[in-house]
Amino acid sequence: MDISQVEVLASEESEVIEKYLAEFAPFAESVPCHPDKTYYILPGFCDVHVHFREPGFSYKETIKTGTAAAAHGGYTAVCTMPNLDPVPDSLLHLKAQTDIIERDARIPVYPYGAITRGEKGEELSDMEALAPKAIAFSDDGKGVQREEMMYRAMEQAKSLGKIIAAHCEVNELLKGGYIHDGAYAAAHGHRGISSESEYREIERDLRIAKETGAAFHVCHVSTAESVELIRQAKAEGVDVTCETAPHYLLLDDKDLRESGDFKMNPPLRSQRDREYLIIGILDGTIDMIATDHAPHSREEKSRGLAGSAFGIVGLETAFPLLYTRLVNRGIVSFRKLIDLMAVNPRKRFGIETDGFSVWDLAAREVIYKKNFLSKGKSTPFLREKVKGVNLCTVARGRVAYVKSK
Ligand SMILES: [Zn+2]
Repeated sequence: MDISQVEVLASEESEVIEKYLAEFAPFAESVPCHPDKTYYILPGFCDVHVHFREPGFSYKETIKTGTAAAAHGGYTAVCTMPNLDPVPDSLLHLKAQTDIIERDARIPVYPYGAITRGEKGEELSDMEALAPKAIAFSDDGKGVQREEMMYRAMEQAKSLGKIIAAHCEVNELLKGGYIHDGAYAAAHGHRGISSESEYREIERDLRIAKETGAAFHVCHVSTAESVELIRQAKAEGVDVTCETAPHYLLLDDKDLRESGDFKMNPPLRSQRDREYLIIGILDGTIDMIATDHAPHSREEKSRGLAGSAFGIVGLETAFPLLYTRLVNRGIVSFRKLIDLMAVNPRKRFGIETDGFSVWDLAAREVIYKKNFLSKGKSTPFLREKVKGVNLCTVARGRVAYVKSK
């Protein structure tokens, strides 16, 4: 690729543009290209919600394959959730993960510390010791059920200057559900997960955040009520941000199929919920898009809606999907998408601005499992035609991904 074929998007400042071009120049020649095309540099995306499964579940994903997938998707920073074995609830347990990160990561990886020991919700983790090394605290995978436990966690997080990032879910309201408690579940005889199981806990945690003054981040918001509650809390000055994931913006329960590829938690909600999420993005209630990249083995995803594990992969398809279906259709501006994927997550979590990716935004590609670098192959977007192909990702001054010729 010749550097004259490259333009920098999402910035008008000549200093920024020159910096990106200068950083890319040494690598440009090794990137395959077509001489008549123009390519675009985008700022490195940052995903604050991924599951890389190591240590403990490396048959699903590893730091090596997870960061390769992230770099393929244009990401130059990710935050890894703590539902691992061991759970990073002490410095020693966290070290089991950071040792692998130091050895294998292709892009910067920022691990979460657990809120409670073993994510069991009974005892706080060693938050003080973890604070300097953990990007924030989360018990993702489940909600912290006891109010008093969340209160103490937020007090502690506040005194340590850290964010509590919560997976909000009331276990009592789950009742064995595994897809949204809506029209599809009723028509096909499936057990549903109510919207209430999510927003009730968000409501509780917003109240605790208000009382303690803690910085609170809501993971994977999926319901209309959740958006409304967060909008109100922001108006009242609560220190809250939130994320949603590409699949909640692009799919709803009308799109469900009898396949594990459509099973994740929270589940795909109703059309109304999906429309509320889009509004939430447009009015700034939703601050960022995270993929909740949650790989599993083929077998674990092959047991239909009822029996499959919760979770789909997302890092390698997020930008092309959102670019094709939100930006190209005029629903969200390009600038806004970059804010949601690169700028806002870094701002909120204090992650340095670093790296970029180089895209052919006119190229079309079909989403196939065989193109994924992730070990996880389960996605509801298989065979979807998207626009935008990443040719190269640079993180910390090194090539983290380059498209093969
Ligand atoms: Zn979660």
